[in-house]
Amino acid sequence: MSTGPSVADRAPGPVLAVDVGGTKLAAAVVEPDGTIAVQGAVPTPAGGDTATVTAALHRVVRQVVGDRDPATLTGLGVGSAGPLDPAAGTVSPVNIHAWRDFGILDSLRPLLPGRPAVLAGDGHCMALGEHWRGGYPGRALLGMVVSTGVGGGLVIDGRVHPGGSGNAGHIGHIVVDMAGPPCPCGGRGCVEAIASGPAMVRWAVDQGWTPGDRPGDARTLAEDARAGVPLAVAAFRRGATALAAAVVSTTALIELGDVVIGGGVAAAGDLLFAPLRAAVAELAGLDFVRRVRIHTSSLGNDAGLLGAAALALEAAARQ
Ligand SMILES: [Zn+2]
Repeated sequence: MSTGPSVADRAPGPVLAVDVGGTKLAAAVVEPDGTIAVQGAVPTPAGGDTATVTAALHRVVRQVVGDRDPATLTGLGVGSAGPLDPAAGTVSPVNIHAWRDFGILDSLRPLLPGRPAVLAGDGHCMALGEHWRGGYPGRALLGMVVSTGVGGGLVIDGRVHPGGSGNAGHIGHIVVDMAGPPCPCGGRGCVEAIASGPAMVRWAVDQGWTPGDRPGDARTLAEDARAGVPLAVAAFRRGATALAAAVVSTTALIELGDVVIGGGVAAAGDLLFAPLRAAVAELAGLDFVRRVRIHTSSLGNDAGLLGAAALALEAAARQ
């Protein structure tokens, strides 16, 4: 059954966890039982040069380490927006232009000399964090982040399924409409091309929806959907159906028990989850597929940090 957390529980002490995103850089000291001892975050200077972004990263790390003797930290786990190369320890986040093949593990290793350092995708860390601390200990869990893109990660038998290059779990690029719109990935008809915030807004605008003098974003679209504006309601239903198609297909393939969904668009709550559950019920046929459970993230932004910590704890326990 679940091997990750039990290994993590044998780790000798707290670890340093880092979460790199396009809008914020977060760090935490996490105890072996998953308690966050201290955490902090700074806005990502996304347009800054390499030195500026790297300085911000080190600042938030120093802030959480505080007066603690770094030698008491037994490992480092980093979750980052992709693309990334876990084996090389390098990241090239789409929204952080200054970091291209940036050696994030090499940059942080001097803080924890001799300790293991692990890098994984932010979607992988979110899924692992939810599996470990979110209360979903089943055999197969899909974590999804639905915001300006659609990301995710798979946890199977307690472990992240990374794939050969560390890129498995890209649920946003499952094709759900063979005649669908082009996707930022270069493909066509992907979940992300239909269900991301910008994709839902684009579709609604194409159909004649206007935000008026408000920002033309997913939050405004959600506001109108909540007020019952038909095109906004339809945009959410269409996005939710694309997510449902991906969930149903993935469940048929690997028998998912739980799907945990976080991110800005998921914050719309029932606007998204009600049509999503309805679409799963409509699209799924086989009993074991119909049984899949869909949850809103209970850990929110902490999930990524906890997943990065779980990877570090596991590495420390093996050392
Ligand atoms: Zn795609």
